[in-house]
Amino acid sequence: MIIKDERGMLEAGKQLAIQLKPGMLVFLVGDLGAGKTTLVRGVLQGLGHKGAVKSPTYNLVEPYTINGRSVFHFDLYRVRDAEELEYMGMRDYLNEASICFVEWPVNGGDLLPEPDFLVEINIYGSERELLISNYKGL
Ligand code: ADP
Ligand code: MG
Repeated sequence: MIIKDERGMLEAGKQLAIQLKPGMLVFLVGDLGAGKTTLVRGVLQGLGHKGAVKSPTYNLVEPYTINGRSVFHFDLYRVRDAEELEYMGMRDYLNEASICFVEWPVNGGDLLPEPDFLVEINIYGSERELLISNYKGL
């Protein structure tokens, strides 16, 4: 679908939130500034999060507890070696109780399992093309 502005991306995130269940893993693929973090912000708001949403670019992961559910938002942009993720205990985050979002999953190498949803965002000026595939359902 075509997303006209930031508001539209937040709205798409809220729609995606409806489909998420504990244990799910979502990959977000797209260039810097595509709107990956914006989409996650919309999802978090859709799940009921009220506070701020920081981009986890510098600390790799931002944890949330929303209505008793744990959600982790990763940004692996700065990861050079998937071994760094072993050290941070990435595997422990990917459990059946938590919902995980991963920006730049390509940098996670073999450490990451198949996602439940793959989100791809392409930039066309101020518009974005948003593709969401139910990965395991393919
Ligand atoms: P990423 O996490 O992919 O690097 P961000 O979500 O942090 O991207 O930033 C996307 C930026 O693009 C924001 O500043 C947002 O306001 C802007 N933007 C402009 N048009 C759109 C659009 N149609 N959808 C989403 N974001 C948009
Ligand atoms: Mg981002």
